[in-house]
Amino acid sequence: MKPLRFGLQARFLCVAAAVMLVVVAIVAALLAGQAATQREVLRASNGVVDQVFDRSAREQGTALATSLADALVNPLYFSDLDAVGALVRSTASQNAVSYVLVHDTEGRLLHDGSIEVAGYGRQMQDPLAAGAVAADALKVQESSMVLEVDVPIRIGDQRIGGLRVGMDLVPVRAQQAETMAMLERGANKANRRQLLWLGLVMLALVGLVSLLALYVQRTLVRPVRWLGDATRRIEAGDYQVQPQATRRRDEIGELLRSFGRMGESIARHDREVRQMAYTDALTGLTNRLAFREALDHELLGARTSGRGLALLFIDIDEFKRVNDTLGHEAGDEALLQFAQRIAALVEQDGGSDALLARFGGDEFVILIGSDAGRVEGVATVLAKRLVDELSLPLQVQDREIFLGSSIGITLFPEDATDATGLLKNGDIAMYQAKLAGKNCFRYYSRALDNAVERRLHMEQELRGAWERGELRLVYQPIFRTHDRVLVGVEVLLRWQHPELGSVPPSMFIDIAEQSGLIQVLGPKVLRAACLQAQQWPRNALDEELFVSVNVSPRQLRSGDLAAAVEDCLRESGLDASRLHLELTETAVIGDEMMAASLLEKLHRTGVKVWLDDFGTGFSGLSHLRQVPVDGVKIDKSFVSDLQRDADDLALTTAIIAMAHALGITVVAEGIEQQAQFDLLNQRDCDLVQGYWLAKPLSSDELVGLLQPAHR
Ligand code: C2E
Ligand code: CA
Ligand code: CA
Repeated sequence: MKPLRFGLQARFLCVAAAVMLVVVAIVAALLAGQAATQREVLRASNGVVDQVFDRSAREQGTALATSLADALVNPLYFSDLDAVGALVRSTASQNAVSYVLVHDTEGRLLHDGSIEVAGYGRQMQDPLAAGAVAADALKVQESSMVLEVDVPIRIGDQRIGGLRVGMDLVPVRAQQAETMAMLERGANKANRRQLLWLGLVMLALVGLVSLLALYVQRTLVRPVRWLGDATRRIEAGDYQVQPQATRRRDEIGELLRSFGRMGESIARHDREVRQMAYTDALTGLTNRLAFREALDHELLGARTSGRGLALLFIDIDEFKRVNDTLGHEAGDEALLQFAQRIAALVEQDGGSDALLARFGGDEFVILIGSDAGRVEGVATVLAKRLVDELSLPLQVQDREIFLGSSIGITLFPEDATDATGLLKNGDIAMYQAKLAGKNCFRYYSRALDNAVERRLHMEQELRGAWERGELRLVYQPIFRTHDRVLVGVEVLLRWQHPELGSVPPSMFIDIAEQSGLIQVLGPKVLRAACLQAQQWPRNALDEELFVSVNVSPRQLRSGDLAAAVEDCLRESGLDASRLHLELTETAVIGDEMMAASLLEKLHRTGVKVWLDDFGTGFSGLSHLRQVPVDGVKIDKSFVSDLQRDADDLALTTAIIAMAHALGITVVAEGIEQQAQFDLLNQRDCDLVQGYWLAKPLSSDELVGLLQPAHR
């Protein structure tokens, strides 16, 4: 479940609600204040109205009472009750008058305006009576219903009685109430009007806030949400985000536009990276990574559908030679043409869903699928055509190059059911094709893969061999021909494996070369040889021995050979002139320009460079002029045939003469018989090496050989 988010929208609504609440609170407080004021005003006006009405009743009552009291003096004095009655009645008949009572000084009723005067002479008992009797001047008393004005009646100083005039307060109160009601009605009306206005203002406020919310939602929240969603999708690897079209000129518009551009560039970048990760840069074919993925996918499908698959491994025969002799540029061009040829054939004969990939270096892989029984037939036809067509010459840099190809085929599900197994089998089948003489194809066969697997096993074992101490160096003495004094040694590598036994260098050096391991081993040999050479005594003529180290073509091409040599010299303290490097012909010829610059670099370190296995390559003598070397080693195949083959003798003689003409030293290797030595000695060969003179020795044995002569 998505956790609840306190989003922009919610925030804005909260703020708006808070503002509204504050406004409502303020308005409510105002209203409450106003209601209190109004109540106050009404109470005050009630008092005022009260006073006004009271005073008028009082004044009227007082006027009536005083004038009646004056009129009553004489009739009362003379006890003319009829006259008193007439006077009282005339006053009592007045509208506002409730009653008129005349009493004596003792508080006994004398007249009340009635005809019979029922209560005559009776003591007055009502609540206001006592006050009225006690009053010795004009006095006003009030009860809830009546306002009574009491006036004593006197002749001179003598009080003869009193008058009580009761003014009816009921109509006054009624009128007063009506006035108040009117006032209140007015106030309420004003109140309602105000409330209505307030309500309208509040409504307008709510409307405004809603509009604002809508505006914020449209202009801020929605784009920001979209940006958030889009960012999340990009984060999750979905780059198909449609950019928002907007004409807005504000910051959000700018943000949306630049986000759109950013999304596009990320998507483009992603495509490019994918393209780069999944295709081979040189040929544009699917690469190893993409092929592995596709193979896994195809296997998954084939397992359920029951289809058959065939994997064809193509390796160009001796492609290394193109690189070594013509340079990498030509090698790349050849590879590209090769790839195009394969692609065309796969298109023709591979079936509609065939997949071609460059697997690395000069290796290509084809995956074809078909109905279970048919796939082998398709693979055979394709492999045949590939072998035929790929052996046709290539045109590279105005030269014709002849290359062959070895193809290994493995079948699913017959040979293996998983990708790793199939790839391994394909590789083995390809080796089988190589072992069968190259330029052919072979189906994977369990029985045959032993030799190949041995080789693969050996490669694995060779990897840690130096660290495990299985590799050691031996030194084969080299002698000056004319005095047969030991002047130097050639360093040769030996591998003693606990199970495989002693593995011949011809085999493991080849493996190291093919697998690239030589780039690790080579420098180690060089370093160990230099350190060792420092330990040796001088020879019989008190000369220091030179040490000659074999350098593989791959080591030479790796570029940092000169630096490695300098390092070794510095570390061991060996004099540079005592170190010789043996390079094979194939490493040096072909691209003379490159070779010349490489050799130039090496020469600058002060070491000597010899051309090994001279005569076996296609270089010929003319190359010697162009390649600046210090010496050549005549290959032992020439030496072994010296006595029987007149051509070899002639060639050897020519090599020696030519080398001397160029000021180059000549070494002959593989001397197994005295006759060979004699022939070479007669022809002024400078140095000689061979089993007849000395076999490769350990360092101790070599020292033993040097010491007796030295002493
Ligand atoms: P290579 O450079 O031509 O070395 C000379 C080979 O001839 C050595 O074989 C040596 O033992 C052998 N040899 C010497 N005198 C005679 C002889 O009178 N008769 C016969 N039949 N053979 C003789 P090894 O030691 O088996 O070496 C084979 C090849 O392995 C070498 O050929 C060299 O190319 C390579 N190799 C050996 N050690 C190294 C190394 O440390 N680095 C490199 N890059 N290659 C090496
Ligand atoms: Ca050699
Ligand atoms: Ca050699």
